[in-house]
Amino acid sequence: MSTAIIGAGPCGLVAGRLLQAAGEPVVLFDKGRGFGGRMATRRHASGCFDHGVPGFRMNDAGWNATLARWHQCDVCAPVELGGIQHWTGVGGMSAIGRWLARPLEVRRATHVAAVSSEGELWDAQHQSLGHFDRVVITAPAPQAAELADRAAPDCIASLRQVHYAPCWTLMVGLRRPPKAVGAVPQPLAQVIRETTKPGRGHTGECWVAHADSAWSTAHLEASADWVQSILWDAFQGIVGMGHRDAMHVATHRWRYARVTRPLEGPGYLASPQAPIFFAGDYCLGDGVECAFRSAEAVAAAVLTTTGRFPQGDTAIPK
Ligand SMILES: Cc1cc2nc3c(=O)[nH]c(=O)nc-3n(C[C@H](O)[C@H](O)[C@H](O)COP(=O)(O)OP(=O)(O)OC[C@H]3O[C@@H](n4cnc5c(N)ncnc54)[C@H](O)[C@@H]3O)c2cc1C
Repeated sequence: MSTAIIGAGPCGLVAGRLLQAAGEPVVLFDKGRGFGGRMATRRHASGCFDHGVPGFRMNDAGWNATLARWHQCDVCAPVELGGIQHWTGVGGMSAIGRWLARPLEVRRATHVAAVSSEGELWDAQHQSLGHFDRVVITAPAPQAAELADRAAPDCIASLRQVHYAPCWTLMVGLRRPPKAVGAVPQPLAQVIRETTKPGRGHTGECWVAHADSAWSTAHLEASADWVQSILWDAFQGIVGMGHRDAMHVATHRWRYARVTRPLEGPGYLASPQAPIFFAGDYCLGDGVECAFRSAEAVAAAVLTTTGRFPQGDTAIPK
């Protein structure tokens, strides 16, 4: 008896931890090379860049207590972003994903291309990745719908109701700190000085800038070179620096960055016909807290089908 989890973002990793702690064997698959999904860090000689979520807030008291314990283990730490306290990974947001993944079997760089109604997974070369009693899909809703359109057709209409805002992200490594930091102009919505985050003191002068969602949507299919030139021009004005001061400039496109229309329901979807579950931030709202809470909801639902019992908070490392 075993469960496959597609996606090693915050939802898949927490669901994996909860299921494993309750005695359910789990195997995770992720198409990426790292852990953490959109809770990601890109490393370069000039330093490291949280090019996905820069920091996240938690309203849930239980989860805040768990994060406070991870803070004691130097995995995450509070950081002030825009004058509001957030949580971030120490040395990079991906530290949280690595920490959660430690005891789990995660097959990275493995893109699952299809799921059968009997719980078999396939890659793009039509090679079987294994047969499982249950499958939990935690990819963003449009990708989840593509994966399971034949295996769980009854869930597809709900998945297709979910909407996202994209985000073009600019990463800049500077040779020196700016003398002053000006206002953030359009089309940028937010800039984050990575160097001020916990555990980054030794890295270079790194900045991440997010384009606003309307501009990102309008230019979603534009070339990365063109987008980079526009965002870099806007960014230079903020720090009063030019090309000579930049060691590194790169862009990343997040097609599914933030959920703008989530589902309403118990925090997961379950197919009535196949042993397939869907979970992720979009099942409850937007953001890391929704991903964690959806993981709890789907793990409890899976365990109900196995006759095992959730182990609650003890499943999450302290
Ligand atoms: C630019 C940006 C800014 C953000 N800002 C904030 C913020 O300020 N606060 C906040 O709370 N949240 C923020 N978020 C959102 C936050 O990152 C997400 O809510 C959270 O990561 C959702 O977790 P998840 O596990 O549901 O999905 P994801 O993190 O997307 O994880 C899904 C995983 O599934 C994998 N996957 C997908 N398809 C396949 C496949 N076919 N085969 C194998 N693996 C697959 C992906 O590689 C990914 O690792 C931001 C995101 C971005 C991109």
